Amino acid sequence: MGSHCNGNAVLFLSSILVLLGLFVWMRQRKQGFFYGRYRLESSSDTWVQIPGKVAWIIQELPSFVVPALLIYQSGSLDTLGSKLLLFLFCGHYFHRTWIYGYFTRGGSVHISFVLQSILFCTWNGYLQGHNLIYCTSYDDSWTTDFRFLFGILLFLMGMAANIHSDNLLRKLREPGDLSYKIPRGGLFEYISAANYFGEIVEWFGYSLATWTYPAFAFALFTALCLGSRAVLHHRFYQQMFQEYPKSRKALIPLLF
Ligand code: NDP
Repeated sequence: MGSHCNGNAVLFLSSILVLLGLFVWMRQRKQGFFYGRYRLESSSDTWVQIPGKVAWIIQELPSFVVPALLIYQSGSLDTLGSKLLLFLFCGHYFHRTWIYGYFTRGGSVHISFVLQSILFCTWNGYLQGHNLIYCTSYDDSWTTDFRFLFGILLFLMGMAANIHSDNLLRKLREPGDLSYKIPRGGLFEYISAANYFGEIVEWFGYSLATWTYPAFAFALFTALCLGSRAVLHHRFYQQMFQEYPKSRKALIPLLF
């Protein structure tokens, strides 16, 4: 561990992330978080609804900017940790912020959710960034270690599945349309939440490749948050469409 590493803070923030994941999972078992199809519909608070594109760009931005600033502040891209941070973590959030955010056809998002997301992305961006830059060092042999290679493979496959599935969802709508249709194609033939499955695989791959507790805590958070939301989406489709494919599972092909 380097002298700048705040190990206690990393341990604390990571553990809180796991607890937050459990809290979100318990809360979402009944009601999805207030965005997307579960958004707050009260007309009296339309002034606090932020257009989807703007919301996704500003709420996800800290996950890209905070680690990028930490890399800049550290003044070095020499370590494997900072390279992993830049190319995997920042790469994901560059896409999520600028490309997903710009092209989304999703509806507006309540300001309270946007503020919560900004807080979360700042916290997680700092945690992952600080940990990889200041608290983690790798031997030269790490780049040929099975965990690193398999982790990177999982990350890339998960990211491809996530982006492909999000694109399939986007194409279900014309601009301005906010209705829901049965997703078809790709992994959606097997599961209702193909984009979530991709995202979960991605972050478990990242935690394997980095082999750090904060990355594992974030993967766990993602699985708890998106897993419970996937169950709600699945139920939503089954209730909304009588013709919804019976063999389709919620999150894990053929299993669940
Ligand atoms: P959803 O699958 O709920 O929605 C994705 C987009 O597709 C939204 O614009 C949504 O519109 C639209 N959409 C969804 N289903 C349909 C349908 N059946 N017919 C037409 N349009 C549809 O994903 P989220 O909004 O929850 O998440 C977006 C991305 O962010 C995902 O890639 C997800 O993996 C990621 N994410 C990651 C988290 C993490 O913990 N790492 C947490 C949350 C999200 P609308 O918004 O109007 O419903």
